[in-house]
Amino acid sequence: MTAERLAIFGGQKAFNGRLKITEPTLPDFDDIKEGTRKILESRMVTASENVRNFENEIKEYTGAKNAAAVSACTTGLLISMRTLDLKGEVIMPSFTFMASGHALLWNNLRPRFVDIDPQTFNISPAEVEKAVTKDTCAILGLHIFGNPAEVRALEKTAEEHNLKLIFDSAHALGSESGGKKIGTFGDCEVFSLSPTKTVTACEGGLVLTKHDDLHSKIVMARDYGKTADYDSVILGLNARMAEFNALIAINSLRMLERSIERRNRIADIYRKRLEKLPGISFQEIKSGNRSTFKDFAITIDHETFLLTRNQLRAVLEAENIEVRTYFDPPLHRQTLYKTNEKLPVTDAIASSILCLPLYSHMPEIFATTVCDVIAAAYENSESIEKVIG
Ligand SMILES: *Cc1c(COP(=O)(O)O)cnc(C)c1O
Repeated sequence: MTAERLAIFGGQKAFNGRLKITEPTLPDFDDIKEGTRKILESRMVTASENVRNFENEIKEYTGAKNAAAVSACTTGLLISMRTLDLKGEVIMPSFTFMASGHALLWNNLRPRFVDIDPQTFNISPAEVEKAVTKDTCAILGLHIFGNPAEVRALEKTAEEHNLKLIFDSAHALGSESGGKKIGTFGDCEVFSLSPTKTVTACEGGLVLTKHDDLHSKIVMARDYGKTADYDSVILGLNARMAEFNALIAINSLRMLERSIERRNRIADIYRKRLEKLPGISFQEIKSGNRSTFKDFAITIDHETFLLTRNQLRAVLEAENIEVRTYFDPPLHRQTLYKTNEKLPVTDAIASSILCLPLYSHMPEIFATTVCDVIAAAYENSESIEKVIG
């Protein structure tokens, strides 16, 4: 592709309509028609048969002992931390979506941000170990973009220091660590079923745990924290899942294995084509693990790629290609969380990261086109620098 063909120089855009960074993969109307009719006729519109069926299918799929469907990952995290009765500091990565931190603040818990591993972008177990103090009550792990965290090392640290271990597993429904599904680690794992995630309920979440007593408390907490005879015993809220959402989630879950296969295939296309260019690096998925590729992230090294991340972003946006800089700014740089912690790896990754379009029903040819544009941007970096500075 020559310089003139690029849209920032007035060439025709690579996509006429906008190529979105992500889109939910949804069931056909015909697949949910009968289920919807049943919900309406039964007049049981929340926390009923579909929710129970969804929870059972999730247990079967992940191998988790207990599953509680909730209204969102955020509310799931909130009630998990509340029912675990945490007090003090929670060690967590700063390189995440703000909801991970918000759940702490709603519980009057203090985040203690630690750095991530430069290869996997996941929380570094060595940094976690160093950050433990007498005020630490828990670790909040995360499988960033679906890449499984070092679950066993984190479990070991939690056990040695008598800490609770919670995972924000929003990106990781379908991910695997050493042949075991994410959802079976730590004290509990909390998933998101919002429209950008691998399984969607339109809006929703899930709390999976091996502890029966914790599960019972979460089931109570999602329903105002009340017992059958209207005694409120824990501070709960309404975090129930509605029947229609569970019906969508059941149908979405049935597409999950195929979705992950397709996402991994598209990620392969991106990697094989982009690794030929200097200055582009990828998130490392450790062998024996499976990522959902909830997002496909690259990092741009300005020195060798000859363009900055923001310059490349401008080139792609001009072509009608939507990209995102997840998670820039990281939490420790946001107004609500500003701290003095030095997190050099987090800062370096956040300032160079770019997430490319990827969704389960995305045609593979779209990924090829995105790669062609990135290659053309590299080849024409000098002229681009002159235009966008
Ligand atoms: C999407 C997301 C959440 C929030 O999920 P909701 O279901 O919208 O509450 C939490 N944590 C991470 C890492 C996320 O990406």
